[in-house]
Amino acid sequence: MSPDTWQHRPVRPGDPVRPAPRNTGSLLVDNIGELVTNDVGGEGGPLGIRRDAALLVEDGQVAWVGPARYAPAADRRIDAEGGTVLPGFVDSHAHLVFAGDRAAEFAARMAGEPYTGGGIRTTVGATRAASDDDLRATVRRLHGEAMRQGTTTIEIKSGYGLTVADEARSLRIAAEFTEDTTFLGAHVVPAEYADRPDDYVGLVCGPMLAAAAPHARWIDVFCERGAFDVDHARAILACGQAVGLGVRVHANQLGPGPGVQLGVELGAASVDHCTHLTDADIDALASHRVDCMCPEGLHTTTVATLLPGAEFSTRSPYPDARRLLDAGVTVALATDCNPGSSYTSSMPFCLALAVREMRMTPAEAVWAATAGGAAALRRTDVGRLARGARADLMILDAPSHLHLAYRPGVPLIRQVLHNGVPQCRP
Ligand SMILES: [Zn+2]
Repeated sequence: MSPDTWQHRPVRPGDPVRPAPRNTGSLLVDNIGELVTNDVGGEGGPLGIRRDAALLVEDGQVAWVGPARYAPAADRRIDAEGGTVLPGFVDSHAHLVFAGDRAAEFAARMAGEPYTGGGIRTTVGATRAASDDDLRATVRRLHGEAMRQGTTTIEIKSGYGLTVADEARSLRIAAEFTEDTTFLGAHVVPAEYADRPDDYVGLVCGPMLAAAAPHARWIDVFCERGAFDVDHARAILACGQAVGLGVRVHANQLGPGPGVQLGVELGAASVDHCTHLTDADIDALASHRVDCMCPEGLHTTTVATLLPGAEFSTRSPYPDARRLLDAGVTVALATDCNPGSSYTSSMPFCLALAVREMRMTPAEAVWAATAGGAAALRRTDVGRLARGARADLMILDAPSHLHLAYRPGVPLIRQVLHNGVPQCRP
């Protein structure tokens, strides 16, 4: 695909994400060598794999899936040329609204300086100084990058404004690109409140939440030493819940801590990072389950979202996905795309890291990057390719999903459909 073709992609910031476009006619994707459906109602193992399959799209949704020889007629056709078709990636953790970059900080870290999270304040300064158009241009660029790499659903957080006006505008801009917007006013305590964190928590729970909530679906807190302690985190998340926001937590990234168990206590959709977990953390995650479409027929109420791009970019030990999976915890993979600790928008890169460094099988990693991300966002319309799901999918120039981890760094994605609409052509 060339950058030029992307300039003509039909989905633009500001377009409604839902409802799916109407009257676009039917579209048949056929000659699919391997179709990953994540539909456990059928055969094909935990990924619901079908061979020699076809898939019909109508009104932006999957209308039919079956053997190619029984494929219905359609207005248009895409030939998958024997390649693999998967659900679009669901990146359930990204920080795309910011200004500036921190390449120098990355270089210093690679030269031996430890990561502490303190660089967030650098980005806060740059973000406050940026215009709306500059922030929007950054989100558009990163959103486009992500979609070219197969991401069709992305969560976008605020958290680099940390004033009432800057958090509200960050979320307003994020909402132009996704319906999964997250208020992260509690990212760090900004410098002007360094001596009075209680006052900052009051601001977050009061005027900042009031300004942010109309533009947000979720609330999140960075519950970590040097950010917010458990009492502040609980208070902020409870305020968000009280106005109808769902809960997510940045937890146990830099060391052991109370974040994971706080998330479980509050019924969080996801606890994210999970790099340093005790047995009690894993027991807490594993002990609450809900019915779902996942391989076990159940998933844990609170998903453990692993962000290996952060460990890669901070040269830190990776989370142990195997330990979580063996305990029956539902695992998602996401990018954590942000300018400080994980400046990648690439789900295939994170998936390859998860297989190589976190003891996930390729199938587990594909599931975690698609259906797992959907579970972490409590969505049933994405992350799978079955009748009624949103027609978000990618076509690989590869004979199986294994190639995503087997061929790291290689641009295997030939085409992406979002809401059934082709986003690029080879
Ligand atoms: Zn994050």
